[in-house]
Amino acid sequence: MKCVRCKKKAVIVLRRHNAAFCADCFLHYYKNQVLKNIRKNRMFEKGEKVLVVVSGGKDSMALWDILVKEGYNVVAMYINLGIGEYSNRSQEVVEKFAKENNLPLIVKDIKKEFGLDIYKLSKTLRRSPCSVCGSIKRYLFNKVAYDGGFSAVATGHNLDDEAATLFGNVLNWEEGYLARQGPVLPQTHPKLIKKVKPLYTLTERENMYYVLLNKIEFLHEECPHSVGARSILYKEVLNKLEEESPGTKQRFLSGFLEKGKKHFQDVRERLELKECKNCGQVTTTEECSFCRFVRICNQQ
Ligand code: SF4
Ligand code: ZN
Repeated sequence: MKCVRCKKKAVIVLRRHNAAFCADCFLHYYKNQVLKNIRKNRMFEKGEKVLVVVSGGKDSMALWDILVKEGYNVVAMYINLGIGEYSNRSQEVVEKFAKENNLPLIVKDIKKEFGLDIYKLSKTLRRSPCSVCGSIKRYLFNKVAYDGGFSAVATGHNLDDEAATLFGNVLNWEEGYLARQGPVLPQTHPKLIKKVKPLYTLTERENMYYVLLNKIEFLHEECPHSVGARSILYKEVLNKLEEESPGTKQRFLSGFLEKGKKHFQDVRERLELKECKNCGQVTTTEECSFCRFVRICNQQ
């Protein structure tokens, strides 16, 4: 099979685009997709400070690398969540990449810095580790971005992630989530920094190609808590559909963003936003969940 762009021998076939690329033309396609997503959705401009959240996995490593290569003003942030060896290994990968490429990196360690333990919180609050972990991550993304004067927080969510989230939200008719789902979560409060997903049209497989072709080291293993997660089941279902009918995920997501999302706009945030009495970050209660977590972990 030949590359659709230069007619050399193709090494990558993208069935959903009915296209095949050689390595160079794939990287050209990948870069154009990312730049188009940033511009089309007005995620950020060249000079603006962007906080890129990295986990050591292929998606966030690809995002970090391409934004640096394209000359964006990025600082990466890694959060050590205290998930045993997985956290230690992922931190090593991220730190090594920053050091080798001389890139700025902020490292937050929830245990060392705040005394937080997601397992203790999970047990005390009877919430899943993922639910606790998600709250902590969201808080720190915003807090670090706000304190550091960043314009946006960028994450490595890909097309597979976004289609699976949409699938779950539709199955459960989560109107509030459907109203907010998209490549940009705009700033709705002066202290809430915009969240953006520049890789939302690229698949896991395409991100994998990107890191392999660029010889970027990444952590192959997933977080142990992702095993058995509902989102994985949704991804499997969508993968089956995609196999039968390439382009399903893309049509599902882009169709929703273009035609479906507008029907949920009237259910947008009815919650009153306040500032936490301790830390000043935005919350819907007197004390934000992060400050509550810190209190619980340091009390017992
Ligand atoms: Fe956190 Fe769950 Fe993701 Fe692991 S899988 S990083 S525990 S949200
Ligand atoms: Zn707080």
